[in-house]
Amino acid sequence: MNFVNQNIKPLNTKINEMGNLEISGCDLVELAKKYSTPLYVMDKITLEQMATDYKEAFSSYKNTRMMYASKALMTSTVASIFYKLGFGFDVVSLGEMYILKNAGIDFSHATFNGNNKGREELVYALENNIARVSVDNFYELELLNEIALQKGKIQKILLRITPGIECHTHEYIQTGQLDSKFGFDLHMIDEAVTLIKEKYKNLDLRGLHAHIGSQIFETQVFEDEIEVLLKEIKRIKDKFNIELDEINIGGGLGITYIKSDTPPDVYKIADIIINAIKKYANLYELNEPVLYIEPGRSLVATAGVTLYTIGSSKDIQGIRKYISVDGGMADNPRPSMYNAEYFAEIANKKDDYKPETVTVAGKFCESGDILIKDIELNSPKAGDILCVYDTGAYCYSMSSNYNGVLKPAMVLINNGKSDIIVRRQTLEQLIQNDVIV
Ligand SMILES: *Cc1c(COP(=O)(O)O)cnc(C)c1O
Repeated sequence: MNFVNQNIKPLNTKINEMGNLEISGCDLVELAKKYSTPLYVMDKITLEQMATDYKEAFSSYKNTRMMYASKALMTSTVASIFYKLGFGFDVVSLGEMYILKNAGIDFSHATFNGNNKGREELVYALENNIARVSVDNFYELELLNEIALQKGKIQKILLRITPGIECHTHEYIQTGQLDSKFGFDLHMIDEAVTLIKEKYKNLDLRGLHAHIGSQIFETQVFEDEIEVLLKEIKRIKDKFNIELDEINIGGGLGITYIKSDTPPDVYKIADIIINAIKKYANLYELNEPVLYIEPGRSLVATAGVTLYTIGSSKDIQGIRKYISVDGGMADNPRPSMYNAEYFAEIANKKDDYKPETVTVAGKFCESGDILIKDIELNSPKAGDILCVYDTGAYCYSMSSNYNGVLKPAMVLINNGKSDIIVRRQTLEQLIQNDVIV
């Protein structure tokens, strides 16, 4: 059986009786007509299935706290869906906290992450009683203690550490290796603990946090990460006589963008993580800690597709045929940033199958604005609707107004129903902060 993150397409994707692509009872051509393109489409059933699988997979370890890594896709509706399923949140900015608050969600199950949190952001987090701040560096320890002191609070914190583990993913989405901007190196931990113990009396250290990268297919790295975290907890216990009882292992589980991607399923990852915790807690004679996990991509990527309309094309004889769509790097910067690969299909009915290998280009003024290089599509023509799969994570959240192009709308679909959850940006909004002097 395939689990959500092992599929390219959302659950319940098929060709319907009209001959069009359909997801969860919604005809994609109808959606494109109704809401216009480019359009982000999120399938609620796929999203909820993955979230439920995560909970189920970790259910045998009672002390698990599921945190959705908001940076993958943050809208008030998406946050509410995860909240209702019992998820907490990993937030990384004032804006993400503001969206959470807008969704009516309190911060009692939220962790604030980031390598350069601002004073204003930390103040906001503390004023809203954030459950944990994952402190990244010495500068932040001092700043946070000062703010907590001013507010008369004892803030519960984790220390973000760099475990020195390399996973085989794109360089820009590796975070656990020694040469990283994130977190305390292992040899800095003792100094941080000493400072918290002796000087920063408004900080309450509860545990350690690491995040080793994203779009990970290997399983051993998670075991290695847990070994490092528990070894450090053991060392701290022996040296300082403090037993930390929380570990946050970050996110990172990969998904299937293209056929050759082979991520493990969440049950397998959960087994490895839970067994590693039991093994190393036992080996180091520690209590089994509270486990925080913060998946982002794997929770939302597969549930999302982007619809585009095909426009112009350019056939360079013997070299390559480009077809251009009405979006591109501003609504999905991942191909130009990390050479990310995607799968796509024509969504509207075609009378016969005439495969053609083309390169899907965006409409932005950069040669690097290519969404998909060399993909076989069914005789793509101007006016066709192109469905690009697996755009639920890190597309809308990374989108920009490059070239003055408006950000697309997002709809949530569910069993034949569709609702706008993010309106298409308007020209008025594009210039609302633009001041003429
Ligand atoms: C980005 C990030 C995550 C989520 O990573 P995914 O690969 O999207 O699962 C979790 N924790 C931290 C600290 C992160 O920076």
